[in-house]
Amino acid sequence: MKVAFLGLGIMGRAMAANLVKAGHHVTVWNRTPGTTVEGARTADTPAAAARDCDVVWMCVADTAAVEQVLFGENGVFSVLMQGMIVADSSTINPLATKQIAERVRALGADFVDAPVTGSKVGAESGQLVFIVGGAEPSIKRLTPLFNAMGKQVIRMGNVGMGESAKIGMNLMIALIYEGFAEALTLTERLGVPNDKFLELVQASMVRSGVTDYKAPFIQRRDFSPNFPLRLMHKDILLMLEAAKTTGVALPGLESVEKVYAQSAGMRDQDYAATLVTVENLAKK
Ligand code: NAP
Repeated sequence: MKVAFLGLGIMGRAMAANLVKAGHHVTVWNRTPGTTVEGARTADTPAAAARDCDVVWMCVADTAAVEQVLFGENGVFSVLMQGMIVADSSTINPLATKQIAERVRALGADFVDAPVTGSKVGAESGQLVFIVGGAEPSIKRLTPLFNAMGKQVIRMGNVGMGESAKIGMNLMIALIYEGFAEALTLTERLGVPNDKFLELVQASMVRSGVTDYKAPFIQRRDFSPNFPLRLMHKDILLMLEAAKTTGVALPGLESVEKVYAQSAGMRDQDYAATLVTVENLAKK
């Protein structure tokens, strides 16, 4: 298939590379020039990348970035045609997604929200899980692309439901990791070395995908970004906004948000670096 891939960050670059490997004709674009993908053509603007493509796939930072790429200067909107599909793997506001989809559909193309889970390792190894919202026929047409980048597709419902489920899932990740960081800090203060506590976690019922993924990084004190703290903070604010809109109370998440606000100096590190904030909050 002819695919335009827009946004070559930690996730997007690896995803686009896997599309190339699977034999698709890929044109890439990134806001900051200089990032390329071997075997893909590089375009100067989103519109130039998307022209004559079957599918436009985005993986950019946030809601404003998606709106900019689609409807801003030299945006995709100017070349959208009947039969094209716009797929979005960015994690953004679910309500905005529905409005964006309506605007895209008014121009004749279809829209599928397809946020992902699996982080940097999943993107590089083609093992992402796609959390999808949209019409069944369009999702079916995207199957060869999903297969090139991921291991599973879960359709949550119509447009916007992928993003809704994704922020729910990240809510759990943020709370699980906060519990992990607080337990590590407390037990170390009580005299249990972190390595020993990690051994217990991995042998017990609190073991999870989050602890599996993060434990080796914590052991090495390696907080280089897999999922940057600034993006998890963005997601937490999306969850709190959705909670406000729907009248849901999220008292645990409100406390965790304060930890992220206090971690602003480490915004480009991995969100696992919130452990350092919890450690620093302990009395000396
Ligand atoms: P990243 O490394 O920070 O990359 C962000 C990308 O968005 C870059 O290509 C950046 O371009 C582009 N961008 C930012 N603002 C823009 C704007 N206004 N207009 C156009 N492009 C813009 O982030 P990432 O880790 O790849 O994440 C991308 C998306 O996937 C985010 O929504 C994130 O929440 C989600 N996600 C990430 C992970 C993960 O583990 N990393 C996992 C699941 C989902 P520049 O190069 O010019 O800055």
